[in-house]
Amino acid sequence: MKLAQRVERLPPYLFARISETIAKKRAEGVDVISLGIGDPDLPTPGYLIETLQRAAEKPANHRYPESDGLPELRRAVARWYRARHGVELDPDEEVVPLIGSKEGIGHLPLCLIDPGDVALVTDPGYPVYAIGTMFAGGETVRVPLREEDGWLPRLDEIPADAARRARILWLNYPNNPTGAVADLAFFERAVAWAREHDVVIAHDLAYADVTFDGYVAHSILEVNGARDVAIEFNSLSKSFNMTGWRVAMAVGNQRVIDALTRVKTNLDSGIPQAIQEMAIAALDDPRDSITEHNRIYARRRDRVVAVLRELGLRLEPPKASLYVWARLPRGERSSGEFAARLVDQTGVVVTPGASYGASGEGYIRISLTTPDDRLEEALTRLSKFARGAPVL
Ligand SMILES: *Cc1c(COP(=O)(O)O)cnc(C)c1O
Repeated sequence: MKLAQRVERLPPYLFARISETIAKKRAEGVDVISLGIGDPDLPTPGYLIETLQRAAEKPANHRYPESDGLPELRRAVARWYRARHGVELDPDEEVVPLIGSKEGIGHLPLCLIDPGDVALVTDPGYPVYAIGTMFAGGETVRVPLREEDGWLPRLDEIPADAARRARILWLNYPNNPTGAVADLAFFERAVAWAREHDVVIAHDLAYADVTFDGYVAHSILEVNGARDVAIEFNSLSKSFNMTGWRVAMAVGNQRVIDALTRVKTNLDSGIPQAIQEMAIAALDDPRDSITEHNRIYARRRDRVVAVLRELGLRLEPPKASLYVWARLPRGERSSGEFAARLVDQTGVVVTPGASYGASGEGYIRISLTTPDDRLEEALTRLSKFARGAPVL
């Protein structure tokens, strides 16, 4: 059997480098604690589960859903954008619900990329942007992000040839993995750049509502005229602790939304309707769940920041996202080696920055989605390790 190139070319599992060490420690009986995964540990709010249970009873929800989602869900998304971002959306032309934003992100290149076309992908970044591009036969050109620029790309340094061949520019703020945020002035520059180069901006706003210290994240659609060139992915996953239910949305440019809807109509049959009803309940009545969750993440963030500093890592406490991104202590070069050493000596797993792209080398990512008691245990071990005391 011969597998397709697009499968052969898939990069190895994110943790390939340290997974051996993890397996070895587990075999030795060590209680390994992972601070690697970005999946909220807290349950979906109870009133949303009750909505889902009631919706599951209705026979109308047992049949194929529409690929473009319930009109009521598209309208709830439009109301959410008006209330949250002051952005007016046409629910029938500028909104399409997704089976999680990863689904839409993976499929978008099929709408915009022909073989030989380029997607500009910020580095470090979420791996799906480049993989979706490869599946569509396109070529990824990495746009490096640097700490000194607040992890925002230097758009004027994108090589002219890449800009000419580019069809998509991927942006993601609040950012995974760096936790960086972007102000409206940056989005204005990005929209102007995209207009000049006839490139579609795909903005991934997965962490729209995971924000701390009063920070409010922007939608790129808040910029005047952004919808001429941009679409935005938004998701209930991180906002409402709903990663398991798979519901999200793409909003913005009408032609791109239409193309994505047509691709999806041919690949999937939409989001189970009971889950769409749950999503409508969340968007129309978020109650205080978002504030509650963010209070917990902010408290964890402060604990993580303090202990990472004891370890000699250098960092800015993030204003948003589920991650603390920290620079290795002086003298340390390889994030993979550092992470493997931490697992070996403390049983604590962090993600090497290099797994998110070459520009992530020299950093590690710690997720704030570990339950409080496990996180405290991990931090106690890291603190001992910092003092040179035996840990395991
Ligand atoms: C978690 C995450 C997503 C995927 O979210 P889903 O809506 O659950 O598919 C997309 N982008 C980034 C950057 C993420 O971290």
